[in-house]
Amino acid sequence: MSRFWSDLTRRLTPYVPGEQPRHQRLVKLNTNEAPYPPSPRVLAAVQATDGDSLRRYPDPESTELRQAMAEYHGLGADQVFVGNGSDEVLAHVFQGLLNQDQPLLFPDISYSFYPVWCDLYGVDAVQIPLREDFTVDVKAYQRPNGGIILPNPNAPTGMVLELGDIRRLLESNPDRVVVIDEAYIDFGGDSAVALINDYDNLLVVQTLSKSRALAGLRVGMAFGQAHLIEGLQRIKNSFNSYPLDAVAQRAVIASLADEDWFQSCRRKVIATRERLHSGLEALGFTVLPSAANFVLATPGPGRDAGAIFHALREQGIVVRYFNKPRISDYLRITVGTDEQCDALLEALPALLS
Ligand SMILES: *Cc1c(COP(=O)(O)O)cnc(C)c1O
Repeated sequence: MSRFWSDLTRRLTPYVPGEQPRHQRLVKLNTNEAPYPPSPRVLAAVQATDGDSLRRYPDPESTELRQAMAEYHGLGADQVFVGNGSDEVLAHVFQGLLNQDQPLLFPDISYSFYPVWCDLYGVDAVQIPLREDFTVDVKAYQRPNGGIILPNPNAPTGMVLELGDIRRLLESNPDRVVVIDEAYIDFGGDSAVALINDYDNLLVVQTLSKSRALAGLRVGMAFGQAHLIEGLQRIKNSFNSYPLDAVAQRAVIASLADEDWFQSCRRKVIATRERLHSGLEALGFTVLPSAANFVLATPGPGRDAGAIFHALREQGIVVRYFNKPRISDYLRITVGTDEQCDALLEALPALLS
């Protein structure tokens, strides 16, 4: 606390990211990073960066990159917005599109950054409870609102909503923006990008951090009709007109060009997820059906998830524990390599007994 802080600064409760430990020997299953490196073409593009491209300001519009993303998804370049990670993109979305005269709606269990942006930008919000089984109650969103935001698959449950349900949300809120945060869509479920030309109130946010193994590069994007993208550009150009650096712009173009690498990595993660799911069940855990690169699992009655989290940490295995209502009996475990997941499954029995 400092007497120089503004009222807003005093009031904020900033988001707390998962731990990024300094020493390397940990089995790190806590922040949903990819267990495999990005395509070698990405590394080659980074290495090919020359002095001139660093000396100059980057392309403020990320023109080539947006063109490449548009082609990849069958959209127009004016339907693509890019930013430094989807967290930055989402921050602009909260400020530019979701700050309305009625409350924003999002699930009670979802990405814990949403309430932080609500505080920062003064967005009034109502959290809609997931059902007892953690599914989204689509009908509960039929109430006056200033917009809706949902991660799909949801985080940290990993559970996915079908496109039919997303259409229902869009159709029952024709005058409000519905934002689908697809950070994990490449690991399961159908992307709402396919609906963009049908709905002028749909914005889809994605990231290269998880399925494309580029969390360190900080690139995220939003897809939507041109009028929504233009709104985001107005915010961006009032905040930082050069959001993506020159290295990131080339590296992402290289990533999009290596479809085989991308497909093979995501298939490996999906296969390991199923192994991890059954391995945990064999130890007595209840595991939510995940369409993401993590699972949310509870060790069951009489077992203390928080204590297991700490005991794993002592053995160098880091997972995520949220001491929050409804999920305080659960651990969120990122899908690592087969070896990393085996290390976890081998460490657990001693901690459970
Ligand atoms: C990881 C995550 C993000 C943010 O990803 P970036 O690294 O900022 O692109 C956004 N939404 C959800 C639901 C996430 O899990």
